[in-house]
Amino acid sequence: MVMVIEAAYANGTGVANALRMSQAQWLGLQRNYHVGDLLMPCCNAPAVPKISANGHPFFAHLSGACSTSEESQWHLAAKILVRSVLEDLGCRASVEVPGSSETSRWKADVWGERGEAKLAIEIQRSYQSLRDYRTRQKKYRAEGIKALWLLRQERYSTLTRSMSKERLRTEFGGKFPPAGHFGPCLADVPIAMLELEPTTTITGAGFFTASLPDLLEAVLSDRFLCVDGLWCIDNLDAMSRAAQLARERAAAQRAADI
Ligand SMILES: [Zn+2]
Repeated sequence: MVMVIEAAYANGTGVANALRMSQAQWLGLQRNYHVGDLLMPCCNAPAVPKISANGHPFFAHLSGACSTSEESQWHLAAKILVRSVLEDLGCRASVEVPGSSETSRWKADVWGERGEAKLAIEIQRSYQSLRDYRTRQKKYRAEGIKALWLLRQERYSTLTRSMSKERLRTEFGGKFPPAGHFGPCLADVPIAMLELEPTTTITGAGFFTASLPDLLEAVLSDRFLCVDGLWCIDNLDAMSRAAQLARERAAAQRAADI
């Protein structure tokens, strides 16, 4: 089930957004809403305010059924979430924004602006070749637009595999570096992995993990960086510590197994 955080009031008075409501307000909404008051963003079916097993508020379809596919529900839920977080970070933000300059056109899944900063977030669903990621990214860069790709796990793994092959070929001359491993990411394609269930998580290669607000703030303030083939916020310190911890845990496990 896709957890949607925003539903529109059927009478046109605006939206209810779970990110902006206190627990008391959410419980009040659950007590006082009437079926049909609130509509799902995907299909306009009646929305029911609920609380997940993990304690997160979300909207569900009244009947459980939706006329759109699970994948497009997920995509829409992700776009609404990213737009809401950008707004909370002080951006003017909207979804599916077409843009153009004299030389190119684009349409961002989510668009944010704050002061001088312009940000395009792409929540890529379908397969896209590494070359296409780079081409689209180049377009944004040429226009002075910051960009970020948020991918679900399978899509993320496919892309990082292509990127690491590219790094191996162009940066390491086709030979594995002496360490035997290297960060798989390319510095011109800022990516992170996004999952919405059971709770919103942002992760990435090399033990990267962040909250969605921290990640978006880092991108807005040019602190989401590619260091040694790994995307990180500010530096690799926290990720190196996490990697070290994982190695120690694995070693302890092996010792226990013997
Ligand atoms: Zn729906």
